[in-house]
Amino acid sequence: MQIHLVTGGAGFLGSHLIDRLMEAGDEVICLDNYFTGRKANIARWIGHPRFELIRHDVTEPIKLEVDRIWHLACPASPIHYQFNPVKTAKTSFLGTYNMLGLARRVRARLLLASTSEVYGDPEVHPQPESYWGSVNPIGVRSCYDEGKRIAETLCFDYQRMNGVEVRVARIFNTYGPRMLPDDGRVVSNFIVQALRGKPLTLYGNGSQTRSFCYVSDLVDGLIRLMNGSHMGPINLGNPDEFTIRQLADLVRKKVNPALPFVEKPLPEDDPQQRQPAIDLARQQLNWQPTVSLEQGLSPTIDSFRNLLELGEGRGT
Ligand code: NAD
Ligand code: UDP
Repeated sequence: MQIHLVTGGAGFLGSHLIDRLMEAGDEVICLDNYFTGRKANIARWIGHPRFELIRHDVTEPIKLEVDRIWHLACPASPIHYQFNPVKTAKTSFLGTYNMLGLARRVRARLLLASTSEVYGDPEVHPQPESYWGSVNPIGVRSCYDEGKRIAETLCFDYQRMNGVEVRVARIFNTYGPRMLPDDGRVVSNFIVQALRGKPLTLYGNGSQTRSFCYVSDLVDGLIRLMNGSHMGPINLGNPDEFTIRQLADLVRKKVNPALPFVEKPLPEDDPQQRQPAIDLARQQLNWQPTVSLEQGLSPTIDSFRNLLELGEGRGT
């Protein structure tokens, strides 16, 4: 039996990953400072003999004995990572530095949850791992984008200098149950707006594109990466690309086709297009997404409906 540390384990992706690790019979330590995570996401495991919960901030060092470190701690939605950009940069740099130090000390393998944002507003489409990116170093998204870039750098320097076993996943837009209703990301925004009978907010004219991966597919990719021998960086995402207007239309069709759209200004440095090239994941991990956007939206909408009925949605 392996001991897993999941940083950011009370968050959206982390809690789904913990479900999978617990269901496989392993031991899991969930570490989180609850900035965007919620105890409700991991409540079903609290009290389980193979599960431990630690309230801790990854910008501070910690000593633990573990075999695998899944390093996910970092706010992921623009409104959260821009809330305190200096803290976001610290979380990426110091957090990854502390976790790599831990990995080195206890000889654990570390997987970093990096992001498609390392490609910035890409000039190459779709984006292969060999593309170095087009990132604004001083913009409002830089704390996150550059934070993840230095986190990747740290991983490969620890690997070269100290032989730490690293795995780096570049995660593209992922959605599913347990996203926060007020985190401002496009899938949660549209669903919450539609369920509340409000107009769907298209930033710009909605012609920008994203490629949306359902959470179960993503977690499957992370597990394959951690267990395999390829270090990465490796893209994990669904290559089916949609304009934001198409996404809005899909959500509207499933919830209430009569709802109007309203155009709002495009946020600064908002990438115009994004689609993962996943040939490497196909070859190295024998992985590709299996859930279409059409299929994945239904359980996501149902989960938000339940949440809003319980009165847990705020804002948006
Ligand atoms: P999330 O906000 O739901 O989860 C992040 C978790 O990290 C939260 O539980 C939060 O409380 C915790 N956290 C934040 N700062 C911390 C700190 N300093 N110390 C300890 N815990 C801290 O976001 P998510 O969507 O689950 O994203 C998880 C990881 O995956 C992040 O690293 C994110 O950058 C990466 N990622 C996610 C996506 C996506 O589409 N969801 C895409 C690319 C990359
Ligand atoms: N977006 C939108 N309406 C919203 C929220 C987001 O049109 O209510 C757009 C946003 O401008 C971006 C895309 O949807 O072009 C994805 O935004 P999100 O914040 O989900 O992810 P990211 O930009 O980090 O990929």
